[in-house]
Amino acid sequence: MCYFDHAASTRPWEEVLCLFQKEATENFANPSSLHQLGFLAEEKIKKAKKTLAQLLQCQAEELIFTSGATESINQALIAYAKGHQGGGNKLVLPAIEHKASLQSAKEAVACWKKGEIVFMPLLPSGHIDFEKLAFFLDKEVGLISLSSVNNNVGQVQDLETLVNLRNRLCPQAKIHVDFVQSFTKYPISLANSGIDMASFSGHKIKGLKGIGLLYVKKNLRLEAYVHGAGQQENRRSGTLNMPLIVSFAKAVELSEKVRKEAFAHALALKKLFLEALLQKNIDFVVHGLELSSDFSKEKMVEASLCTQKLSPFLLNLSFLGVKAETLVNALSEEGFYISTQSSCSSKNDLNYVLSVMGVEDALNVSSVRISFALDNTKEEVLALAEKIEKWVLRLKRK
Ligand code: PLP
Repeated sequence: MCYFDHAASTRPWEEVLCLFQKEATENFANPSSLHQLGFLAEEKIKKAKKTLAQLLQCQAEELIFTSGATESINQALIAYAKGHQGGGNKLVLPAIEHKASLQSAKEAVACWKKGEIVFMPLLPSGHIDFEKLAFFLDKEVGLISLSSVNNNVGQVQDLETLVNLRNRLCPQAKIHVDFVQSFTKYPISLANSGIDMASFSGHKIKGLKGIGLLYVKKNLRLEAYVHGAGQQENRRSGTLNMPLIVSFAKAVELSEKVRKEAFAHALALKKLFLEALLQKNIDFVVHGLELSSDFSKEKMVEASLCTQKLSPFLLNLSFLGVKAETLVNALSEEGFYISTQSSCSSKNDLNYVLSVMGVEDALNVSSVRISFALDNTKEEVLALAEKIEKWVLRLKRK
């Protein structure tokens, strides 16, 4: 099996699976129970939270465990909007965000009188157009939300410039960042970042599914989104899943430990793959680049490897004349797993992120997403390039 869909989900670390099984078997008590086993589970949760806070450079009280990034994002946008009436009625976000943010934004602005979604101006590459954005940031803005790395194309957004602009033009507005695709890939330091809320997911970083984190800056009031018995200081009810929490902290620890190595490895694989494609007899276009129209393929490859602009873990490209879904299915039959777009919406023909970026439909329908990880080898990448050449040539002839 050659798996290149790590942006959709990852293979959990072996240690994480073992730890989960051990804790779920031995320490299954409810962490809210007032007996020794309950206290033990509670202690383990506290320890895991401390580890996570250290890694993210924030305070343990600023972290809430959720069921995943989708829930974190829902709470960050909707519960914030619900609890902050009259502090600005505009929610500003890019139209290329994950559906969790786009759908939550709709619900969030419905909580505000005359609430309105304002889409951030973007460059054709899908990066924020800060010059234009400055005209949108005024005293009506209540909330700004964006992904640090886009899950579809891999654009890396400049958070520092965004925070500075907010501080200058609309200091009343809060910023939420979706860190799902940069967590344990790019360094993250929340203290003094100017970020007010942030979302993270477990299964994208070699942890298990069903767990995520929401960071809420100290002193920022945020209502509950999941209501119940008042766990997590009334901010997210529901029995805490200690085995899942400790194995999540373990996954973050392990992935952070190899962060630099994984980054260099992903970049080397992306380079190897694109250079292998250059040698093949097929045409391709990489998305998310800032290039004028008369670029050469070599220039395109060079620009694709700029890690300040594009994540080395992600590659979105089109093979003109070949329907992406057909290519993905053909590769899948041979044991090579890539995706047509974000897995959450991969049933639609057109990739909405590319549509927003102005990519023409013919290119759009032929776009695929390949995501690399430390788990992949050079041999797998070269084999993938071979298989793609074979299938692109075969499918084009049809
Ligand atoms: N945000 C981004 C950028 C993602 O890539 C994903 C998952 O695809 C999510 C949010 C949702 O994460 P989860 O699966 O943990 O709900």
